[in-house]
Amino acid sequence: MRLQLNSPVKFLKGVGPKRAEALQRLGIRTAGDLLYHTPHRYLDATTVTPLARVAINQDVTCVGRVVSTGVLPTRRGLRVFRAVLRDASGLLECAWPGRPFLERQIKKGQLLLVTGPVRYYHGKQIVPSEFIVLAEAGDDTDGDPGLVLPIYPATEGLTHRQIRALVQQHLDELLPLVVDPHPAGFREGHQLLELHRALELMHRPPKVADAQLGRRRLAFDELFDQQLVQARARHLAKRSRVGIRFELKRELTTQLKENLPFELTNDQREAIREITDDMTAPLRMHRLLMGDVGTGKTVVALFAMLLAAENDYQAAIMAPTELLAEQHGATLTRLLEPLAIRPEMLLGRMTAAEKAAARQRIAGGSPRIVVGTHALIQESVSFRRLGLAVIDEQHRFGVEQRAALVEKGDAPDVLLLTATPIPRSLALTLYGDLDVTQIRERPPGRGTVKTALRTDAARAKIYEFIRTECAAGRQAYVIYPVIDESERADLKAATTMAEKLAKTFAEFRVGLVHGRMKAEERDTTMRAFRDNQVNILVATTVIEVGIDVANATVMLIEHAERFGLAQLHQLRGRVGRGAAASHCILLSDSSEAAMRLQAFTETTDGFKIAELDLHERGMGELTGARQSGGVPLRYANLETDLPLLDSARAAAAAMIGTDPALEKREHAAYRERIVTRYERGFELFRVG
Ligand code: ADP
Ligand code: MG
Repeated sequence: MRLQLNSPVKFLKGVGPKRAEALQRLGIRTAGDLLYHTPHRYLDATTVTPLARVAINQDVTCVGRVVSTGVLPTRRGLRVFRAVLRDASGLLECAWPGRPFLERQIKKGQLLLVTGPVRYYHGKQIVPSEFIVLAEAGDDTDGDPGLVLPIYPATEGLTHRQIRALVQQHLDELLPLVVDPHPAGFREGHQLLELHRALELMHRPPKVADAQLGRRRLAFDELFDQQLVQARARHLAKRSRVGIRFELKRELTTQLKENLPFELTNDQREAIREITDDMTAPLRMHRLLMGDVGTGKTVVALFAMLLAAENDYQAAIMAPTELLAEQHGATLTRLLEPLAIRPEMLLGRMTAAEKAAARQRIAGGSPRIVVGTHALIQESVSFRRLGLAVIDEQHRFGVEQRAALVEKGDAPDVLLLTATPIPRSLALTLYGDLDVTQIRERPPGRGTVKTALRTDAARAKIYEFIRTECAAGRQAYVIYPVIDESERADLKAATTMAEKLAKTFAEFRVGLVHGRMKAEERDTTMRAFRDNQVNILVATTVIEVGIDVANATVMLIEHAERFGLAQLHQLRGRVGRGAAASHCILLSDSSEAAMRLQAFTETTDGFKIAELDLHERGMGELTGARQSGGVPLRYANLETDLPLLDSARAAAAAMIGTDPALEKREHAAYRERIVTRYERGFELFRVG
């Protein structure tokens, strides 16, 4: 039988049942999988230092044969594994303090690559931070691995060397089997290498930069496949989403505009324009409005709600907590007063009779604007004519909960709000089938938030500052890092903190909220803080994201190093909501964290911070499991490949635009790739 890309690996020479099993652990089942199992890094032998030429205190990479090994104790009782390497230039000792067990791995005769600093200890020595066995004693590798050595992800029972040998052995046989789905014109347009050339460069790059070119092509394909899936999903959603075609009557919306107590920001105007376009189009709106806390998303949503209302539809906004729903209720009541419209509230804590009455009015259709919590999605709730569903802090609801609200209407438009900005690249990947609007601009007239990084030495001064602010009638948050609310020790620290502060600030009222409190108890304290009955609120991260206490001007964050940047930003968003100048003080004695915390003090742009956060946490965590129905990205890097993503997205949209089901013969290869790689692609392209 002739070898094909989908042949099981066991048909490859050199792969027995045991190896096949090990390969499977790496996700390699077919010959094609092996071809796409690309190196995760490369060793550039052009940067290898000859052993005789290493200099003290330098970080070096060296390659040499092991000529002797041994374990020696030091005077302090530490056992040190040592190996002497030889290359054409001479000899050099390597030392691994505290790692005598390496004796079992590093043997005389092996070709070893080491990287690490050079130090002086009875002579020059490398203390490797890393080593790789390039060849065993018996291997006749001087079948030279080339100047650039690919290093493959390996697994137990299968070393990267064995994988490399396997790949090199079969590469020439496998490459001709690769069929490039992109025609030459397409490749030229996007400056892409031919597929088999790209794979060859990844496995056998003459220079490290060549491997990068190969990677770029694979990354494009990966992003393109993903964007095809999303473009297809958007296409289907739109087709099946004939929605309400609202008419811009300029009645209620214009009245609101004329009576607003403030000027809309440019970003708000632009968002309202986009939403109006969506709502007046024949297709259903499915839009995500993304903006930091305080950027004024509610009023944007209100315009959309009024557009529905002036078309004789109802509109509902659902918030994840009672407090937020109350806050929306208050905001909308205030803004709608000149229009003589009163929003209807539906909250869990209302009495049964109140709820029943509200439900009855909603079912009757008289309230045009409805504000509520999960109470809105109970079975007993029905709308006469729900035309728009707005979901605030959308990520705090499950998919079914969001759907439950939407299903209260007959194909209503959907507007999702989120205060968690994410970089655009990530938004395109995660929410590719939503339209996204960003609001970056903050309304003017807000006091600025000054952020400062301080050590514990400044504590007394900070307390004095809090005292001054509170004496002037302002309020303060003190945030304690209880990362895991089930951690007793952490909670105790927060509680102790609150007790201490109550003594320090005896003339003020100090409150405490944390995740282990009953919801009602927490709400009571939060309300007291909102109503200025509590001056200083000690809190864990449970305090509401959207809570709007304009009078709170100070936030002190203890152990700031224990928070992620995005989380710090969320916390900081709770001050600076009024006109007075606000302060966010990060308290941290960690010198390691100083740099990132300092960077945080220098920007208030949530999108920038999201990028820093993404950079900090690395891509894997964010791109992996979180793609619904997708596959994790292996080659693309969302931090650096944004231009590539943009062109992949545009190309995919164009292709789906002309051939929505990829039925044309020249698109068969794309369809095939997607159906086999994407679970969701299978549904989208096979069925229907
Ligand atoms: P978020 O985006 O966090 O949901 P909100 O919609 O709650 O923000 O708005 C925060 C506060 O800012 C509200 O009190 C709102 O009335 C006010 N606000 C909204 N837009 C503007 C604006 N353009 N100018 C001044 N204040 C505004
Ligand atoms: Mg909000």
